[in-house]
Amino acid sequence: MEIPIFDGHNDALTAEHHGQLASGSDQGHVDFPRMRAGGMRGGIFAVFSESARNPVRLRRGEDGVLRRPFASPLPHARAVDAAATAAGRLFALERAGEVTIARGIADFDDAFAAPEMGTPVAVLHLEGAEAIDPELAALELWYAAGLRSLGPVWSRPNAFGSGVPFWFGAGPDTGPGLTPAGRRLVSRCAELGVLVDLAHLNEAGFWDVAALEPGPLVCSHAGACELALTSRNLTDAQLDAIRDSGGLVGIVFAVYFLDPRFRVDPELGISLIVDHIRYVADRIGVEHVALGSDFDGTTVPAALGSAAGLGLLIAALAQAGFDRGEREAIAWRNWRRVLDAWWRD
Ligand SMILES: [Zn+2]
Repeated sequence: MEIPIFDGHNDALTAEHHGQLASGSDQGHVDFPRMRAGGMRGGIFAVFSESARNPVRLRRGEDGVLRRPFASPLPHARAVDAAATAAGRLFALERAGEVTIARGIADFDDAFAAPEMGTPVAVLHLEGAEAIDPELAALELWYAAGLRSLGPVWSRPNAFGSGVPFWFGAGPDTGPGLTPAGRRLVSRCAELGVLVDLAHLNEAGFWDVAALEPGPLVCSHAGACELALTSRNLTDAQLDAIRDSGGLVGIVFAVYFLDPRFRVDPELGISLIVDHIRYVADRIGVEHVALGSDFDGTTVPAALGSAAGLGLLIAALAQAGFDRGEREAIAWRNWRRVLDAWWRD
């Protein structure tokens, strides 16, 4: 049997082709026909809301570090509106029978136990919790609707903490940790059974979450600082903490976070992804590394192209010496373990 794939992060719900997720399109990276073609039975579907201002120009400091300024803060009311719209798209697809929204591990298992891929399974994720009020009342609504994964911050400050600005040539130690509301959010997520995602969080915030011991530490889409020193990647100390907690890191496919020279070049190969998977597997164990493409949110290797090309990555892992059991762990079994550990159902 072809190895099924669970991918830890995509932005398809807010991509331009969001209206064609069921029918398929040649835009972006993810839709259900291309998931089927690539063996991607499920993934974490992010609700991401853009800032009003998001400067992209990099400036090189006297220390040689390339820095992009913060995106502007996202006001709560604007975030509530945008997040409800994006999540509504997924619920409409569920109502139409096109997708299963995973509310418990049985939904995941139904999708991954079958001999052939059936209805794709989606985990609803909030990437940045601006749509949640600091008193967390809205968190109850989102949970009741089906939210099962949440990143307290995107790459900007909010009421809960601060994400990393995009820096190249420096690591994730970029600012202060969680606010008191951020600590309450993490603890309440743990009680409800909503996975807390550490992607985009700065290093101080990462250690604040770790100290609360809410569950296995999970970073859905990042790479290793040791191979490419960017603020969006993880230091060896962070990787070790992920191992010690039983968690995982989903390796991102964004070429400029993986390339040691940070090039935004789609001609960079699939081997770049394999290099980071190999590094993390060798350092903390193959049971703590998985996939977190960031499809529809970034530039991925052209050779991979889209979700339809995921089989090429699994083949490259085999070439790199990962045996079948290891490939299955990376492709989906590690994600299953941490989702099961976090979720209540
Ligand atoms: Zn992201």
